[in-house]
Amino acid sequence: PLVLSDRINAMQESQTIAMAKKARALAAEGVDVISLSFGEPDFQTPQYIKDAAKQALDEGYTFYTPVPGYPELRQAICDKFERDNQLSYKPENIVVSTGAKQALANAVLALVNPGDEVIVFAPYWVSYEEMVKLAGGTTVQLMGTLENDFKVTAQELEAAITPRTRLVMYSSPCNPTGSVFSRQELGAIAEVVARNPHVHVLADEIYEYINFVGEHASLAQFAAVKDQVITVNGFSKGYAMTGWRIGYLAARKEIAAACEKLQSQITSATCSITQRAALAALQGGRSSADVMVEAYRRRRDMVLELVQDIPGFRTATPSGAFYIFPDVTGYFGKTTPTGETISSAADLAMFMLNDAHVAAVDGGAFGAPNCIRFSTAAADEKLREAFLRIKTSLAKLR
Ligand code: PLP
Repeated sequence: PLVLSDRINAMQESQTIAMAKKARALAAEGVDVISLSFGEPDFQTPQYIKDAAKQALDEGYTFYTPVPGYPELRQAICDKFERDNQLSYKPENIVVSTGAKQALANAVLALVNPGDEVIVFAPYWVSYEEMVKLAGGTTVQLMGTLENDFKVTAQELEAAITPRTRLVMYSSPCNPTGSVFSRQELGAIAEVVARNPHVHVLADEIYEYINFVGEHASLAQFAAVKDQVITVNGFSKGYAMTGWRIGYLAARKEIAAACEKLQSQITSATCSITQRAALAALQGGRSSADVMVEAYRRRRDMVLELVQDIPGFRTATPSGAFYIFPDVTGYFGKTTPTGETISSAADLAMFMLNDAHVAAVDGGAFGAPNCIRFSTAAADEKLREAFLRIKTSLAKLR
């Protein structure tokens, strides 16, 4: 008989991918499904980056690269940190990986021992919890409130830290809420972290460029905690390069070396051609992202307006990323035309898929079972149509 490992049996499939699968299955039956479940830019990768990949092939960049990435790419990442974040790193602090996802997993596996506690700011990105489980750690969820834009405060963090706390994880701008920590808020968090030298922080900044409030602040900018912080970033969102699979982290050199060791045994480096394309992306600066950010901002504003028209959706105003995350508890206890009771956001998401043919992800996957996440990285017409359909469907609930 087939026996899978306890590790795999304990792991959940990514809920965002599961919802996308269901939506695809409906679409295959000929249903006109609008999918707002995936966190993926609907933009093509900028042409100059594609050109660099073609050139890399022609120039013969087809061999294994150093495990943490080409030295010139790591240098360009250091230059990016200097330019965008006023952070000074050396190539020895940088590990390039197969997506920010692998950078996060490397850091978790390099730092967390079985039994360690990992504080995760909730709502959180789906994979954090499973990564911690894989490392044998226990997650401690700290839930932000809608009233505070879903942001966990320094005081709440301080109260949650124990001698067993090894790591703190968050994203800012946040997937799924779109909230962005200000420099001041991070300063208060830095003070708490500095008082707890046994704690490291994994700061996921992959949505850095998709920011509508203008200022991106990094926890590592606070000198007292720089060595405790691992900053993760990547190319999937800011440069619309999801399929290329490249991301990176910056950390003190011992942690970077640990991540390199782990990666050397599991995947080696990411694709050589992708690395050359990423180098060109960084050398081109961030102006290609600016064009996309304008579109994301316009869509956010449009969707917020459409959502205001839907009774029972309570939402914060996202400051970044490309999601909207309404609280939908107003619908709990209502009944569908076929007689089913809506008792959770998961039920409501399923009703919306079946009735409005709009796919979204229930907040349970992000540690927020009262909310639903809609991606706003879709064409304006699609977004408009989707929220009109949702409004019509929800009006059928009694
Ligand atoms: N971190 C967050 C918060 C994300 O939303 C995502 C992608 O959805 C990732 C990391 C992973 O990005 P990558 O494509 O670089 O692996």
